Amino acid sequence: MKRLLAVSAALLLAAGTAAQPKVIAHRGYWQHPGSAQNSLASLAKADSIGCYGSEFDVWMTADKRLVVNHDRTYRGTDIRMDEARASLVTAIVLPNGERIPTLDAYLATAEKCPATRLILEIKSLSDPKREALCAKKIVRALKRRGLLERTDFIAFSFDACLAVRALLPEARIYYLNGDLAPQRIAEANLTGIDYWEGVLREHPEWIAEAHALGLEVNVWTVNDEQSMRHFISQGVDYITTDRPEQLQALLER
Ligand code: MG
Repeated sequence: MKRLLAVSAALLLAAGTAAQPKVIAHRGYWQHPGSAQNSLASLAKADSIGCYGSEFDVWMTADKRLVVNHDRTYRGTDIRMDEARASLVTAIVLPNGERIPTLDAYLATAEKCPATRLILEIKSLSDPKREALCAKKIVRALKRRGLLERTDFIAFSFDACLAVRALLPEARIYYLNGDLAPQRIAEANLTGIDYWEGVLREHPEWIAEAHALGLEVNVWTVNDEQSMRHFISQGVDYITTDRPEQLQALLER
């Protein structure tokens, strides 16, 4: 009985002191005035409000350059990130007046934001070979800037996750696609799952399963207060949101 009480007390203590989820700004803090999704300003603004991390999306263009943008085809144009030359892509003007940044320009801004982790999404390309080349180029760019240690990798492509793991045995790599149970992620030696909120509502058991396997759990894109509260109570490690200040305020209460 005494032992049971001690175990219960320890469990209660653990629950009471469980770390709160860390806040990740989705595509940077882009809803802030003067910002735009995946712009240099969005990273600087995520850093200025003390986000744990700032997420962004990286494509490899037809001429094998790295650029930062979300959609495959830029809205209102027929320019495809993975099929156009970089010069065409980086001529596109974002809603805040910046141009689509190269990865290197983005990393130069990251150097000036040393407190913010880089949550780098490798976008899916036409085949695993291209994805492996893209991963290699990204790792090289991060090394050149001394930013490898400060970067977490995320990808919908399982092949892209494995390509990063082959290059970097210690890197933090999270799978986005939501179709694999935590066991499979652990077997592939990845760091965790980073799943759409609908997936984690359908499989709430995956959160505890992941933790039992030593994996971490991130959830996207959680924008309303009720969902934020739900995932805070579920004990996820990270919440990715378009409303980082709202989430921060909720966590401080
Ligand atoms: Mg993304």
